[in-house]
Amino acid sequence: MVLLPQTFLSPTITAIDESLERRQRPRHQRRLSGSMIGRSCERSIWYQFRWAYEPERHSGRMLRLFQTGHLEEPRAFDNLRAAGVRCSDRDPETGDQWTWEALDGHFVVKADGRGHGFVEAWKAEHVIGIKTHNDKSFLQLTRVGVAVAKPEHVVQAQAEMHCSGIHRFFYYAKNKNDDAIYGERIRYDATQAIGIMAKVERILHAVRPPAKVSDDADDFRCRFCSARSVCHEGVFAPRNCRTCLHSTPVMGGEAAWHCEKHGSALLLSDQEMGCPDHLFIPELVPGDQIDVSPDESTVTYRMPDGSSWIDGGNDSEAAA
Ligand code: SF4
Ligand code: SF4
Repeated sequence: MVLLPQTFLSPTITAIDESLERRQRPRHQRRLSGSMIGRSCERSIWYQFRWAYEPERHSGRMLRLFQTGHLEEPRAFDNLRAAGVRCSDRDPETGDQWTWEALDGHFVVKADGRGHGFVEAWKAEHVIGIKTHNDKSFLQLTRVGVAVAKPEHVVQAQAEMHCSGIHRFFYYAKNKNDDAIYGERIRYDATQAIGIMAKVERILHAVRPPAKVSDDADDFRCRFCSARSVCHEGVFAPRNCRTCLHSTPVMGGEAAWHCEKHGSALLLSDQEMGCPDHLFIPELVPGDQIDVSPDESTVTYRMPDGSSWIDGGNDSEAAA
């Protein structure tokens, strides 16, 4: 990225970015999704699913970058149609993206589109995925293919094929630098897909955070991880139902959650609020658990500075 000297920065440009930043509405992810499941660190996916850090806010430039990806999609579909592909980016029943769910709604995949008539395989229906790349990433992609260059995209593609039952995938990539485009077909791999779904189930049902991929906060996988502060830097997770040890994702509903403490279903809107009976999942407290009082519904921790902290007690609000 080229940074302009401060004197060259137009206040209009600053106003554009500030406006985008003001209008963003960061939200927790309700469900596990195809776009997150390809990450190598299961712990980072669990943290996101368990709302263990506040949803991220982005700079105006990053928001425009996300926009660029979305804006490319209609253009990519026009290009595919020009080549004779009969494709659709919306489910006519919902008017929304093609969406498939698994595990009673706890896992969702949203495909960019689906279509027939690819020159290489004109009969077979394909799920379509559109990705934009910077120059370096695009060059790597064209040299070694998507499985090596972007394995997390293949995981997403396998999950989309598995959940949709459409067993071919067309990966359409665009170089944001020079408008070069690249396409690659990906075949459904049942063994890989079953492994991915097992990973989803493991994370869904994990009551504790999975193991770290590294104990070094400066490891390349941790350096830009959104969960770094709660994972490595001793920061408390926020209070909400998903960080509470009384909550469990349950089967048999539509991405349903249950509260053991109150014996009730947890609506999504209630989950954000939590309640005064909240007790942290112990690994989300940056201390060591040293005592539990079931009668008083408290858990005591020894903190890194040697002090003790009681979750559920009078001082718990102040500490976290
Ligand atoms: S900081 Fe590292 S170990 Fe922790 S969740 Fe992120 S990637 Fe995983
Ligand atoms: S005890 Fe309160 S915070 Fe915990 S899961 Fe139940 S309603 Fe949510």
